[in-house]
Amino acid sequence: MSIEIINVRKIYPGGQRGQAGEIRALDGVSLAVRKGEWLAIMGPSGSGKSSMVNLIGCLDRPSSGEIFIDGQDVKELSASELNRFRAEKIGFIFQQFHLIPYLTALENVMLAQYFHSMTDRAEALEALDRVGLRDRANHLPAHLSGGEQQRVCIARALINDPSIILADEPTGNLDAKNEELVLRQLRDLHRQGRTIVMVTHDPVVARLADRSIELHHGKIASQQIFTMSDEMQFDEVLEEIWTLHENGELAEVGRMEVDGALPVAIAIDRMEELGLVRKRVHGAADHTHKSVLNRCHEAIHPAARGIEHGEFIVEFTPAGKQRATDVIRRHRLAERLFTQALKVQNEEEIEQQACKFEHILSPEVTDKICSFLGHPESCPHGSPIPAGECCEKAGHADDRQTEKPSTIGKEGSENARLWR
Ligand code: ADP
Ligand code: MG
Repeated sequence: MSIEIINVRKIYPGGQRGQAGEIRALDGVSLAVRKGEWLAIMGPSGSGKSSMVNLIGCLDRPSSGEIFIDGQDVKELSASELNRFRAEKIGFIFQQFHLIPYLTALENVMLAQYFHSMTDRAEALEALDRVGLRDRANHLPAHLSGGEQQRVCIARALINDPSIILADEPTGNLDAKNEELVLRQLRDLHRQGRTIVMVTHDPVVARLADRSIELHHGKIASQQIFTMSDEMQFDEVLEEIWTLHENGELAEVGRMEVDGALPVAIAIDRMEELGLVRKRVHGAADHTHKSVLNRCHEAIHPAARGIEHGEFIVEFTPAGKQRATDVIRRHRLAERLFTQALKVQNEEEIEQQACKFEHILSPEVTDKICSFLGHPESCPHGSPIPAGECCEKAGHADDRQTEKPSTIGKEGSENARLWR
């Protein structure tokens, strides 16, 4: 366990002396963060998020309760031991950059080295290089953009190779482009096996974490565990390949547009390692690049990319095909559920829900929904729903897995006209 907090309270004296005025910034919080886990802390302003980060970072001591960092009870460390412990174990990234204004980017990074041991100019330069700022090394913070300053902070946070990264609203002050850069860096750190605790108010940013907790009045009010976000993106890629195949198109890497934390080409490399897909060099095979609509990802854009061919074609392995079948089945059943059973009319909402449900339905729940809907053969748009085990048991399975529906189901026809 990387971080363990047991029944921690942080009480600040209020405006006046006496109990009535005291502020319970943290009110009996217990939490364990695994080594290598990425935890997001959410919650309204004043709910105790920064207090929690400061305690984990040993910048402050709890009023009561225990905190273990990498097994060390931090209460037992003297002030100077604590400084050293912090410098070795923990890297901080704050919303306010806390850069020293009269030191250059390079000197700011070297200052962090100094706390650790010896300064090493070459190493500090390399750290700036890693965040794409080698050529800004001699600039003062005032001469750097917000995003660049944040990247200097990341270089500084990483200089001592900490195992734990604490980030308090790391993208709070950044524009979209710099936010993406910073989030990519956090992802890299996560992939390198570092533990990350990140405060954010943005649910989309929190989604990148493995787990999110919500603080309310100094207590953990709720917790949400995300299935690994990469896995979700893999599902999306599989779905995209499926959709292209279903429309008689080849899946070209350069053609696929799939949102997610990873660029598609990298996601596909990872999927190849996991045995879900195979890549092969683009042959001279005749294909049309016709426009194909994957409602989950909106249009795939052949027109915008002209007729240029992607470098690689992606194909399913049997394992990938099975997983794609399952995703498509969940998605199309969810569309049915929302249209048919829940009478949701708004297509956008139906798609949003279906795109969510395709990731979260368990096999049992999927089969229950399928049975409840009477084992439908097609989605509201008329595309076939792959049969599941429940359909076979119910005697509904015909070879519709890959077959195109010749007719659209009764309920489907109306929608199909509307939606196609
Ligand atoms: P968040 O980061 O979720 O906005 P904080 O942890 O900063 O919340 O603050 C939690 C509560 O503790 C707030 O009511 C805040 O005013 C109070 N607080 C934080 N730091 C101090 C402090 N140094 N002295 C007194 N009260 C504080
Ligand atoms: Mg805060």
